[in-house]
Amino acid sequence: MKAQYDLVIVGAGSGGYIAAIRAGQLGLSVACIESNPYAAPDGQARPGGTCLNVGCIPSKALLASSHLYEQVLHHTAEHGITTGGAAIDVDKMIDRKDGVVSKMAKGIEYLFKKNKVDFIKARARFVGMQDGVYSLEVSAEDSVQQISARNVIIATGSKPRQLPGTRIDNSIICDNAGALDFREVPKRLCVVGAGVIGLELGSVWRRLGADVTLLDAMPDFLPGCDTAVSKEMLKLMSGQGLKFDLGVSIDSIALSGDEAQISYRDRAGAAKELACDKVIVAIGRVPNTDGLGIEAIGLELDQRGYVPVDEHCRTTLPNLFAIGDVVRGPMLAHKAEEEGIMVAEIVAGQSGHVNYPAIPFIIYTSPEAAWVGKTEQELAREGRAFKSGQFPFSANGRALGHGDAQGFVKVLADAESDLVLGVHIVSSLASEMIGEAAIALEFSASSEDIARICHAHPTLYEAIREASLAVDERALNI
Ligand code: FAD
Repeated sequence: MKAQYDLVIVGAGSGGYIAAIRAGQLGLSVACIESNPYAAPDGQARPGGTCLNVGCIPSKALLASSHLYEQVLHHTAEHGITTGGAAIDVDKMIDRKDGVVSKMAKGIEYLFKKNKVDFIKARARFVGMQDGVYSLEVSAEDSVQQISARNVIIATGSKPRQLPGTRIDNSIICDNAGALDFREVPKRLCVVGAGVIGLELGSVWRRLGADVTLLDAMPDFLPGCDTAVSKEMLKLMSGQGLKFDLGVSIDSIALSGDEAQISYRDRAGAAKELACDKVIVAIGRVPNTDGLGIEAIGLELDQRGYVPVDEHCRTTLPNLFAIGDVVRGPMLAHKAEEEGIMVAEIVAGQSGHVNYPAIPFIIYTSPEAAWVGKTEQELAREGRAFKSGQFPFSANGRALGHGDAQGFVKVLADAESDLVLGVHIVSSLASEMIGEAAIALEFSASSEDIARICHAHPTLYEAIREASLAVDERALNI
């Protein structure tokens, strides 16, 4: 560790570690500080933040395992394959997930070395700023040191939103960290919060045999999605056995022996009780600036606890930036990464930018939902005239061959210019296909442009071309 750096980054999550690597590539002297509570088996803080340790990566590993289990159990027979059933070893599944996380964490440490980033396993706190130079106290288990830098990035991420009056014990009442570490399949699982995280984690345990109920305060399902997507997803998720009670208000979640008792009021105001073996509280996340010492430099948060920034992630203080979940915008790993790259390039004297309207969103259920750009409701609210084209996977040969023909692609384009304004996909591989739509938005494509691109056959993404043709009512295969 040096006493002074060109750039110090607090937090080695998706935003922080990518910013550090980019800054290293650009020749800056850079330190990335991480106090991660999700320590590696050797007790040391690990890089990767929420996404790698208790978010994107472990959830996708468990989604993959549980999907495979469900396929073997229920979906091989139609292909003429007899398997004689399936059994799940939950410990092995969890160990595999932990192995994936460890491997990637080691990969980040390797990349830090390769790019000459000093990775400091410690907690950082601002202690002051003088003549444009920030001083931070860096506390590890056995040492407290000070470092300084003219440029600092706050990349301290987010933490789970607490349900008032409910204590998370990560044994019976869990947040995302506990929910990724169950050692047996709960018989009855209640997920409070039917958003992206709740749906993904609920799906994992439902596939493995849990009876899963999702409660949500919002009366509408996935209210941020295009209504075509939210309607289709509610139908498909309910069809898989997930039970939903929407528009509820939770009165209490109490431990009673080995189970939890949830008292709530349904949408009509009727009192209801639900007993379950595990509860996952997934009601969103809030920005994390705990113990960061922002008062020592006079940095103020907004009313919701975010660090206020402009479109280049500059805070109100000179050469102090903030990126990722701790600032406005969607709490997504790839959004944090883009902001990290942008800020590293700005610090190095370049002109980085993030194209916020072209950030894709994904729900990794089965089928997946993915979208980029505006929803039909948003366009209607803005009073913008648009055309819409939709194509179902039931008319796509590859999807039928896979035995996985649920969902559709919907393309929204400006009524006059034909500029693509939004693309919404429900499909088993929507997460991969949305890349084409993001490129279309990034390069300001028209639906005609997509329709004129040669799409390989047979592929799922032919449906994006067909939906683009459908914008002008000339889809070929329906
Ligand atoms: P984080 O990844 O939270 O990293 C911040 C880091 O800063 C943490 O490691 C923290 O320990 C450290 N830190 C905080 N304070 C200090 C301090 N004072 N000193 C030193 N270190 C400090 N997003 C997606 O895009 N795709 C997904 O599929 C997806 N799945 C998710 C699934 C779950 C279950 C959850 C919970 C989240 C998921 N997310 C997903 C969201 C994603 O994890 C976050 O958007 C992303 O991690 C944000 O990155 P970040 O760098 O802002 O913060």
